[in-house]
Amino acid sequence: MRDIIIIGHGPAGVSAAIYAARAGANVLLAGKDFGALGKTAEIENFYGHPSPVSGAALGEAGLAQARRLGVEVVQAEALDLRRDGFFTLKTDMGNFESHAAVFATGAGRVTPKIDGLAEFEGRGVSYCAVCDGFFYRGKDVAVLGSGKYALNEASDLLPVVKSVTVLTNGRESVGFPPGVKIFNETVASIRGEKRVGSVELSDGTTLTVSGLFVAEGVAGSTELARKIGAVIENGSIKVAEDKQTNVPGLFAAGDCAGGLKQIAKAVYEGMIAGIEAAKFAKQFS
Ligand SMILES: Cc1cc2nc3c(=O)[nH]c(=O)nc-3n(C[C@H](O)[C@H](O)[C@H](O)COP(=O)(O)OP(=O)(O)OC[C@H]3O[C@@H](n4cnc5c(N)ncnc54)[C@H](O)[C@@H]3O)c2cc1C
Repeated sequence: MRDIIIIGHGPAGVSAAIYAARAGANVLLAGKDFGALGKTAEIENFYGHPSPVSGAALGEAGLAQARRLGVEVVQAEALDLRRDGFFTLKTDMGNFESHAAVFATGAGRVTPKIDGLAEFEGRGVSYCAVCDGFFYRGKDVAVLGSGKYALNEASDLLPVVKSVTVLTNGRESVGFPPGVKIFNETVASIRGEKRVGSVELSDGTTLTVSGLFVAEGVAGSTELARKIGAVIENGSIKVAEDKQTNVPGLFAAGDCAGGLKQIAKAVYEGMIAGIEAAKFAKQFS
């Protein structure tokens, strides 16, 4: 059991880890890649860099600094975070437990541009199997995605629904359990009357489904937040001044918490989340 698990290797996550570790907490820092920071070729507005610095270089330096302070850094894809007295983070590298947790997962993803998808959100299009799967018990559903996160969502749905069809939308897929049907064509449109009724593929195939669970790529901030019941407002995780969400012991910082999308702001919020998460975890030691 760790004191704190932080999800995200970007500036917010690394800053939270540095401050939490220096406050004496035992910290696990899990992340997939460098997120938005990794897409930044030249940064020339961040303190202490007279020449432009790349996001990757800044990210590597941040991780090295965190490791030097005793932070355990793991490269892992977060699939789910649950709280049952303590937090359990499910990743593709195994499960990890902690007393407090920090989302530093970057900005929410952009919804895939598929005809009918946005229109049926909340009316058959869902972004969380564990939240909404129950509403589709005994029904045929589809999962849009091809990676480990889609596998996680399909596995959560299988025991509940009548059938799960995975739509890879033209992408290469991971192995899915037997019983899951897979279609590799791109998705042309989502159709229905008041709710989702079918999905049309680019080759003209029509699949009759009652629900479509969107799980493309890596689980984003809002997907992970929804699963644990953290409030989302205008696409960002809602936090109080101390960066705590409505879930006790769960904090959020950086782009995922809304506001200005800048490194300096992510570092600042990470600092607060790290300090406050360390205070929260201390009550259990
Ligand atoms: C092209 C571009 C240029 C930019 N230029 C500048 C600039 O010049 N100056 C500036 O100040 N800002 C700039 N920004 C903005 C800046 O990069 C972000 O504001 C900053 O990186 C936010 O930090 P963050 O830690 O909140 O999120 P991110 O840097 O996005 O980090 C998010 C972290 O969460 C991880 N993550 C997310 N989901 C999962 C999951 N399911 N499992 C595991 N890990 C996960 C990611 O892998 C990543 O490690 C730019 C952004 C872009 C895209």
